[in-house]
Amino acid sequence: MDFSDSPQDEEFRARLKEWLAKALPTLPPKPPPDDWPARRAYDLGWQRMLYDAGWAQVHWDASPTERLIFLEETEKAGAPYVGANFVGLLHAGPTIAAEGTPAQRARWLPPILRGEEVWCQGFSEPDAGSDLAALRTRAWRDGDHYVVSGSKIWTSHAEVADWCELLVRTDAEAPRHRGITWLAMPMDAPGVTVRPLRTLAGSAEFAEVFLDEVRVPVAHRVGEENDGWRVTMVTLSFERGTAFVGEVVACRRVLVELAREARRNGRWDDPGVPRRLGRLNAEFRALWRLTQWNVSEAEASGGVPGVGSSVFKLRYSHMRQELYDTAADVLGDGALDLDRPWVLDRLSSLSYTIAAGTSQIQRNIVGERILGLPKGR
Ligand SMILES: Cc1cc2nc3c(=O)[nH]c(=O)nc-3n(C[C@H](O)[C@H](O)[C@H](O)COP(=O)(O)OP(=O)(O)OC[C@H]3O[C@@H](n4cnc5c(N)ncnc54)[C@H](O)[C@@H]3O)c2cc1C
Repeated sequence: MDFSDSPQDEEFRARLKEWLAKALPTLPPKPPPDDWPARRAYDLGWQRMLYDAGWAQVHWDASPTERLIFLEETEKAGAPYVGANFVGLLHAGPTIAAEGTPAQRARWLPPILRGEEVWCQGFSEPDAGSDLAALRTRAWRDGDHYVVSGSKIWTSHAEVADWCELLVRTDAEAPRHRGITWLAMPMDAPGVTVRPLRTLAGSAEFAEVFLDEVRVPVAHRVGEENDGWRVTMVTLSFERGTAFVGEVVACRRVLVELAREARRNGRWDDPGVPRRLGRLNAEFRALWRLTQWNVSEAEASGGVPGVGSSVFKLRYSHMRQELYDTAADVLGDGALDLDRPWVLDRLSSLSYTIAAGTSQIQRNIVGERILGLPKGR
């Protein structure tokens, strides 16, 4: 397989690098990590800059290879990541593009691209995480509305979101996977209550969301009633397939910085440190190759990432944890100082083997759908 740039890719890369060199110095200072309204404004501002310069479509309209080049070059240049636009750009948007009606695409996609509206994901519930099909939030029809009651948990960016991609149970009698519907719910609708949750790393990046007879127009349903499970599988393949790609580039940069720090503070003289860094470097290079392979597979199958995304997510999340454990080793006593670089990243890396489907669930997918092993109970 040839992973080198085609002449068009080269031109795309050069044009992007040139724009980044001019645009990045004009960005305002980064807001504090826990000031979510300020972070929302910053992330939407960056998205607007991308839109004005013609780059905003890249997550959806560009070829998978161009998308990869975009993620690689923006990360290398130190550009902001999608941030609060994560759900809109990387799952709800692609899902609406693939499954929505023309009217839904016209209503929701342009504001995401222009950096005007933030989305969050209301999938998990207190008793439905890995076993998502156990979800119990109910929705029943009342004329041209659904009335929704229940609760969601771990909803990232809920506090600053305008819309929620929401999974609800519309048929309690049907087999579990067949009674689910995918709705777009406005977060300012009466009956929506958001209660932020503080994480180990000190940030309130996600929340519990309580829904008390919230009225959602039937026109906000994406896909057919009770066909939400199939729509959800489209969303999740985007989440696992492309959502973490830019971070692999960032991890490779952290490795270089760690090696510099180890040389500076003498930890390099412990043979275990260069050995770990060398092995991690090989792992991240392999992950980048795996990403390129997944992207070319997606290119061949019409743009939707396949089960290869589970292999990537599984390996990447563990390697990220190992990277930041190694950072702690390099920092020595400094690893307890929250103001030092990499310390908060180490705490948040713990969540990577849980978010977007735990490692055990990814292993089940690999076992059943790639290796063809019998299904577990
Ligand atoms: C940082 C972060 C952000 C998140 N953001 C969102 C969000 O925006 N929206 C949203 O809806 N959700 C979000 N989540 C929730 C996430 O999707 C769930 O935490 C995840 O799916 C696991 O569900 P759970 O926490 O209920 O754990 P459980 O499903 O209760 O799992 C507990 C343990 O049992 C294991 N287990 C469960 N079932 C099996 C099985 N069949 N085989 C083997 N092992 C099994 C799991 O691997 C895990 O170790 C987020 C989570 C994190 C950490």
